[in-house]
Amino acid sequence: MAKKMETKDKCNLCNKITGCDNWLSCEICDGWFHASCVKVNDEAYKVLQELETCHWFCQSCNVKMGKVIPNIVKLSERVTEIDGRTEKLEKELKVLSGCNTKLEAKQEAYEQDMKAVHAKVEAMSKEMDNINAKFGELDVSLQKTVEKQKNKLQGHHERPNGARNDECLRNR
Ligand SMILES: [Zn+2]
Ligand SMILES: [Zn+2]
Repeated sequence: MAKKMETKDKCNLCNKITGCDNWLSCEICDGWFHASCVKVNDEAYKVLQELETCHWFCQSCNVKMGKVIPNIVKLSERVTEIDGRTEKLEKELKVLSGCNTKLEAKQEAYEQDMKAVHAKVEAMSKEMDNINAKFGELDVSLQKTVEKQKNKLQGHHERPNGARNDECLRNR
């Protein structure tokens, strides 16, 4: 607690410079007060002067402080609440990013599957082409065989009638 060295300041309560030698200064508004005006007796004044960690506020500042302290407590509670929410959000974000990684892995697996399917389809279509080509060859060779057979048959029919008849006669 600071001791008043000068007497230029007026007492904030009685507006007088003199009247009492014991002065108290408010640590919030820096105003000076007669110890007697703020009802601090000599004994209390001594204690206040001796204890450096003792703080004194004038009446009006004390009322303000009474409102400020609950607000500080509320603020502190709010900060704790926000910290909790932030922690929760961070956890949720981690979970979400984990899900995203899983989704990406699934997407990749799906793409690989699709590639495999495409490769199989391509192989099957090539095989179909081969089969078609073989069928074409078969068709050609079949046609040739059919033509040969036709030619043979035609050759048989084209034999002279006389010879054929002779044969028939001979067999009888
Ligand atoms: Zn005074
Ligand atoms: Zn004050």
